[in-house]
Order: sequence, then structure tokens, then C-alpha cells
Amino acid sequence: MPLLEALLAQFGIEKNRFHWGWISGAEAPRWAQLARDFTEQVRALGPSTGTASWQARRIDMATQAKLKLALYWAASCGGCEIAMVELREKLLVVDEVAEILFWPVAMDYKYKDVEAMPDRHIDVCLFNGAIRTSENEHLAHLMRRKSKVLVAFGSCACEGCIPGLANLYDRNSIFEYVYRESPSVDNPGNVVPKRVCRGGRGNPDSQVL
Ligand code: SF4
Repeated sequence: MPLLEALLAQFGIEKNRFHWGWISGAEAPRWAQLARDFTEQVRALGPSTGTASWQARRIDMATQAKLKLALYWAASCGGCEIAMVELREKLLVVDEVAEILFWPVAMDYKYKDVEAMPDRHIDVCLFNGAIRTSENEHLAHLMRRKSKVLVAFGSCACEGCIPGLANLYDRNSIFEYVYRESPSVDNPGNVVPKRVCRGGRGNPDSQVL
């Protein structure tokens, strides 16, 4: 109910035009009284002006140039992205004021689409997650170049957070722990990722290291 109240307020419906309560099926007279009282309350308020001002705001927003927005996750647990998705219905309001040009977690965008954009084409990029791989690093540089403002969004992007703890170890010990030594690993076949070079996967001349 608090969420519904917030949503109604956002759409210009004043608080006293909304009422909720619990009434059982055995309380018909109470239900009827409540309906009468609430109808009178709303009638006394007169026509709602809030919805008209909301419509005016929507038209105003629609006629303005939309903000060009990008969202990206690097080495991330996904929590920052979930925080964005948790906007739920409010994402529709975001859509009214912003054009989302890049958001891989939610839609099918390609890196080459961003690479083809002019520099500083994106107004704001929300960049979450730490930098752990060369891909993360490439995207951080790319999004910085393509955006007027790049926001380090979330603790991982600001100061490394949990992925940054990997900096306390070298690459081999992380590899051994993740694929062989961690108590939660069940890997009797000793299956580990292989690096393929010279021609790549599927090429008869490729070599597994
Ligand atoms: S800051 Fe990092 S750990 Fe926290 S929710 Fe975002 S991605 Fe996950």
C-alpha cells in the first residue's frame, strides 16, 4: 500500500482520494457505510487538478529532448542492476524522460553499437561493478569516452568492494581456489577452463594450453 500511495501521488492523485481498509464479508453494513462516506469525501473535493498537472508534465517532458542514458555492469554481483530493475513501474517514467542507449543486463545491445557512437554522445552512464578483466577495462574506457558524465555507481565501482578483495591474491591462487580447492567445488574430473590459441575453437590447427 505505501508503494501504491507513492505511485498515485506521482500520477497526480491526491492522498485523500484514495482509501483502503479490511472489511470482512460479514460486515456488509460497514462496507456500505464506508463506500457512502468515501464517495461523499471525494465529491466534496471536486474535480482533481492533480491529474491535469501530471498530464501537463508528461506533455512537457515529451516535448523536451530526452536524456541519453547508458547503464553498464563490469565485475558485479548484479545487485546494482537489480536496484535499477526494482524501480518497476517507475521505469516507465524513466522511459519518458530518457532514451536508454545501452543496458546489456536488460536488453540486447552490442559493444560495436557503442563503439560506433560519436564520443560524448551519451549524456549519463551509470557504471557499476569493479574492473577485474581486460573486457571490464575496455568498457570502462569506452563508456568514459562515449559519455559526457560517467557515474561510478555502487561500492564496487567506487572502491572495488568485494571483487577488489581478489587484489589480495595472485591469479594462480585465485584460479586454484575457484576450480579445485574451494570447499564448495565438486570437480572430480579436474575440469578447468582451457585457453585456446592459434585459430580459436573449432579450428583443427588450434592448440589447447
Ligand atoms: S556495489 Fe557491488 S556488491 Fe554491491 S550491489 Fe553493486 S555490484 Fe553488488
